[in-house]
Amino acid sequence: MQIIETLDELELYLDCAKTLGKSIGFVPTMGALHRGHASLIEASKAQDDLTICSIFVNPTQFNEASDLEKYPRTPERDALMLQILRTDVLFLPEASEIYPESEAPIPDFRLTQLANVLEGHYRPGHFDGVIQVMYRLLTLMQADRVYMGLKDFQQQAIIAAMLEQMEVNTALVPCPIIREVDGLAMSSRNMRLTKDQRTKLAPMLHETLLSAKKQWDNRKAMDEIQKAAISKLEAAGFKVDYFEMVNAKTLQPASNFNESTRACVAAWLGEVRLIDNFEFA
Ligand code: AMP
Repeated sequence: MQIIETLDELELYLDCAKTLGKSIGFVPTMGALHRGHASLIEASKAQDDLTICSIFVNPTQFNEASDLEKYPRTPERDALMLQILRTDVLFLPEASEIYPESEAPIPDFRLTQLANVLEGHYRPGHFDGVIQVMYRLLTLMQADRVYMGLKDFQQQAIIAAMLEQMEVNTALVPCPIIREVDGLAMSSRNMRLTKDQRTKLAPMLHETLLSAKKQWDNRKAMDEIQKAAISKLEAAGFKVDYFEMVNAKTLQPASNFNESTRACVAAWLGEVRLIDNFEFA
């Protein structure tokens, strides 16, 4: 596996790959890799000739300085995992490579309807940072496909909409959520949970989504489903930011049982914020 740290090296690599007619699959990450990330690498390797994984803990998408500081970083382990997965390139840029000017502009896409709700509402400025870094990375990479997890459902919806407005021929491949055996969606943040939070409480997020889905299938009123889910989580000790059933395309609240619907949840266990989602219809 080649480790590339500068834009000059990356450009040269991409130029050679193009000359040889190789397709590029791109997997953007913030590191602290787990099997969820591995599934994206595997999806890329199954479809593209070359797989590039980036690890960049993007400072502009953290709305709280302490969250950025505490974000897990496991660089040696990440590099080994990527090697075992036979990733072709690990792109490991410094912030100065990604943002050469101190005030990097936020590209102006028409995404407000998608970006102002759910995570956007509770983490002000978060999606500005995501859009900024993804615009930069996607423009640099000019990949054939970018592989993103449905774990971050809203993020992939925003990037899909952004790609439609961008002048790159990159297709977004949404990849399924990889879970632990007890149902907890894998996340780099899970390693910050205490043993009790991890084993006794965190799996309740997925359980609550499953039980809400059952109620949805029985056509229970949506506000009742929402209330029951929030009460169950709060009673167990979560602090819930939101539990919402939204139209899977517009991310606006679902209004009937016939539309394509996703339930999305964000909740805190102590200092750790967890998100998850589940397809309802
Ligand atoms: P992150 O490193 O958290 O920024 O995530 C990088 C990519 O991995 C994003 O596209 C995430 O949606 C995806 N990802 C993270 N966790 C999972 C998971 N449990 N299953 C599938 N994809 C995931």
